[in-house]
Amino acid sequence: MAVATGYQDKTDEQRDMTEMVRQFVDKEILPNAEEYDHEDKFPGPIVEQMKELGLFGVTIPEEYGGLGLDLTTYAMIVEELSRGWISISGVVNTHFIGSYLLMKFGTDEQKEKYLPKMATGEIRAAFSLSEPECGSDVQGIKSTAKKADDGTYEINGQKMWVTNGLLSALVFVLVKTDTTADPPYKGMTCFITEKEPGASENTGDYAGLTIPPKIKKMGYKGVESTELVYDGYRCPAENILGGEEAGLGQGFRQMMDALEVGRVNVAARGVGIAQRALELALVYSQQRKTFGRPIAAHQAIQFKLADMATKIEAARLLTMKAARMKDAGERSDLEAGMAKLLASETGKECVEESFRIHGGYGYSKEYEIERLYRDAPLLLIGEGTSEIQRMVIGKKLLERNKI
Ligand SMILES: Cc1cc2nc3c(=O)[nH]c(=O)nc-3n(C[C@H](O)[C@H](O)[C@H](O)COP(=O)(O)OP(=O)(O)OC[C@H]3O[C@@H](n4cnc5c(N)ncnc54)[C@H](O)[C@@H]3O)c2cc1C
Repeated sequence: MAVATGYQDKTDEQRDMTEMVRQFVDKEILPNAEEYDHEDKFPGPIVEQMKELGLFGVTIPEEYGGLGLDLTTYAMIVEELSRGWISISGVVNTHFIGSYLLMKFGTDEQKEKYLPKMATGEIRAAFSLSEPECGSDVQGIKSTAKKADDGTYEINGQKMWVTNGLLSALVFVLVKTDTTADPPYKGMTCFITEKEPGASENTGDYAGLTIPPKIKKMGYKGVESTELVYDGYRCPAENILGGEEAGLGQGFRQMMDALEVGRVNVAARGVGIAQRALELALVYSQQRKTFGRPIAAHQAIQFKLADMATKIEAARLLTMKAARMKDAGERSDLEAGMAKLLASETGKECVEESFRIHGGYGYSKEYEIERLYRDAPLLLIGEGTSEIQRMVIGKKLLERNKI
């Protein structure tokens, strides 16, 4: 006989962790995000506090100094951070993907060298697939690495849209080591390129890597997105992810695996920004009066609130399902694609509905929803656009239901 138990969406540990992050967001991020956003300024003091809270090592095993938590708990934390400001989750996101790549594919030496410093946030990581001429079509990249006589690899090429491109100390970069490979993905390799954080022109061991001024963006301010120009940059062979023998030619597969967790991460960001948009709408609609009563008393507004809350709950559940499947060691490519698609679209829709509920004030920089309106569209693009998610979902559906 089935025994009924109370519904619990979080373990005690997850509840404590998300409550701690929520308080941090309410106290440190929400009151300050507007200023950092308007000035497009890196939120240094907030990032320092995040280091103290261990937020750069959430999923890194305890033996390397991290908190050793799972993807599900990480996704809950990301939702909370994104409720505050998605740029803050952007500072952590590529770092998290870098640590995932190391934990899953790195050699023992690579893990020991980088993970302890990454866990504390002493060094931060970026990851780089996109180039000026391609983003969705990753196999179309043109950057190359060629082995030189001294055994190092010389990297040449231009990368685009690298989040944390300037301030990171490590970039997990995908390049072609065999430009004739057919299909192309078999000739792609991921290098762990070291750099000097904050230096636009790297020198010494890192010479040959230049970072042009940050790209000016509509939203997602504060965290820098840059190009990276590799021009004769020398990378030791031991910095091929997984080592030269095991890692050469494996970069595409490694990066696609990492994108699966990256998609859960973006989904959590979509839920977080949607949740904040709903909160703002709930408050504003009870304060603002038209025709003698709060606008929340008009059924048309209530329907908007109802649709927002329903979609957010659905997006959150799907995000958690994808995260839990990954934690259980199951393939979650289909679910991660669905979660990313639904949650990012939900983020955009809820922000737009909340914006409409704010009437003219939504268009004013005095109101938080204006920032959310500029931030939300990013989630439709990063870690694969909505069209690309639909392609992934369609392909996986057919694979799983072959007749
Ligand atoms: C702020 C920001 C931060 C970013 N951070 C990073 C980062 O840290 N690292 C990184 O590597 N990249 C990063 N990106 C790049 C991002 O991943 C790409 O922009 C994204 O993958 C889309 O690539 P694209 O811009 O080249 O668009 P394109 O690939 O040129 O696509 C253009 C349009 O065509 C559609 N499309 C493409 N192919 C198909 C198809 N086969 N069928 C139907 N429609 C299609 C797309 O959905 C899109 O609507 C970032 C982007 C932004 C804006």
